[in-house]
Amino acid sequence: MDLQAELSKIFQGDLDTTDELREFYSHDASLFELKPQVVGFPKSTQDVQNVVRFVTANKQAYPELSIVPRGRGTDMSGGAIGQSVVLDFSKYMKQLHEVTPESARVQPGMLFREFDVETLKQGSILPSYPASRDMASVGGMASNNSGGEKSLEYGKTDNFVSELSVVLSDGNEYVIRPINREELTAKMNQGDFEGNLYARTFELLDAHYDEIQAAKPKVSKDSTGYHLWNVWNRETGIFDLTKLFVGAQGTLGIITDIKFKLVPARKHSGLLVLFLKNSNDLGELIPKVLEHKPATFESFDDKTLWLSIRFMPSFLKMLGPVRFIHLLITLIPDGLQLLHGIPKLILLVEFNGETAEEVREKVKALHKDLKGQRARYEINGFEEAASEGKSEKFWILRRNSFQILRSKVKDKHTAPYIDSYFKDVKQLYDPQNIFNPHKKTDADWDFSYEHIRQSF
Ligand SMILES: Cc1cc2nc3c(=O)[nH]c(=O)nc-3n(C[C@H](O)[C@H](O)[C@H](O)COP(=O)(O)OP(=O)(O)OC[C@H]3O[C@@H](n4cnc5c(N)ncnc54)[C@H](O)[C@@H]3O)c2cc1C
Repeated sequence: MDLQAELSKIFQGDLDTTDELREFYSHDASLFELKPQVVGFPKSTQDVQNVVRFVTANKQAYPELSIVPRGRGTDMSGGAIGQSVVLDFSKYMKQLHEVTPESARVQPGMLFREFDVETLKQGSILPSYPASRDMASVGGMASNNSGGEKSLEYGKTDNFVSELSVVLSDGNEYVIRPINREELTAKMNQGDFEGNLYARTFELLDAHYDEIQAAKPKVSKDSTGYHLWNVWNRETGIFDLTKLFVGAQGTLGIITDIKFKLVPARKHSGLLVLFLKNSNDLGELIPKVLEHKPATFESFDDKTLWLSIRFMPSFLKMLGPVRFIHLLITLIPDGLQLLHGIPKLILLVEFNGETAEEVREKVKALHKDLKGQRARYEINGFEEAASEGKSEKFWILRRNSFQILRSKVKDKHTAPYIDSYFKDVKQLYDPQNIFNPHKKTDADWDFSYEHIRQSF
């Protein structure tokens, strides 16, 4: 079949089959490679629906047909590549519909960095942004249940998605949000495609309720899907399908609109930076630091530090001359610090507060607590960066080092863990396996062990 010719009859957006573009879209940030037949840039939900209907109608005759939705392609597990149709949302479907201090409704293709500018005008942020915040789209963040430096305090993106519009495998768009028992009963009695999904999902989750709840990983950051344990809560009577779609990596349907909850941007933040001689006693040091309830706790190692030094000119390109010169000047004291020996690990402990004074107090309290145990944890030195301006340099190094590594080292890639999705759910929502078909499913609850392992 001439896929481009067929799609052009039903698609208002752009379609591209040039070798150069298909080559570009054959990669995300993983080591996998799958070359699409055609890349589409949808202009509207109608475009998305038309493609889904087309693929559904022709899947039996052409089993290789499938759809992979894509934001900015920074996925590290092969989630944003496919062999048939890739739909890139970041060209046209990137409108911010509305934003208030409490919430924002946005199309999936908007870049987080642009979204952030708009929410900050309201004094608010979406705090689950990943380290790839300058590259990622909000749709990719939702589909990957992304989390990052603020997730210790706020959790991941699933905590902030209050409503989704999704195109499901029947080609219709549905709004999903948390609903109560009464609303659930009404949905289940609809007797249509949507009603059947609600009824069968509920049956599955309620019949295996205890087993599913027991399988919930006890970790602070788990971005894997499907988070079945968060969908149905017998105690509150709330049934929330957004929890299934956030983190599903586009395997169950295509997100066309997202309503996010926002939190007030904290006015002040600051860091205590610890330079460690080695990482032997991290097991004891980490709980000690956590007692002080930091907002953020991140690290980078000596190799990352060397990398940042070696590729320092790359920061010029990324930051522009003014911020780059500022970075160099602020790094001078740290250069002197290196004369005392290269730290094995640098820990960044961030505190937030309503006033600069409150932040300073928190930073000082941890500093004081650890100072007495400096020898025990082999802490080479401390740096108090008790204001945002002073701590910025560390965040620049932390956030951008991996991106520099990716752009400079071409022959090495991080090895991803293999995702496995719960087969019963995948089959229910996507019976013909049209969405991201190369993502693996698993039939039994061995899945949960794999799932827990991945969470680490
Ligand atoms: C340097 C670097 C640092 C990173 N740091 C972090 C980090 O700190 N934390 C973290 O969680 N991740 C991190 N990541 C992974 C990745 O950047 C994030 O998950 C990011 O949110 C993905 O956004 P994206 O727009 O690139 O999505 P893409 O890669 O384009 O897509 C991600 C997944 O979402 C699906 N998808 C995209 N749009 C839709 C849609 N409209 N409907 C349904 N499914 C859709 C895709 O099919 C794919 O499975 C990092 C990656 C890199 C390269």
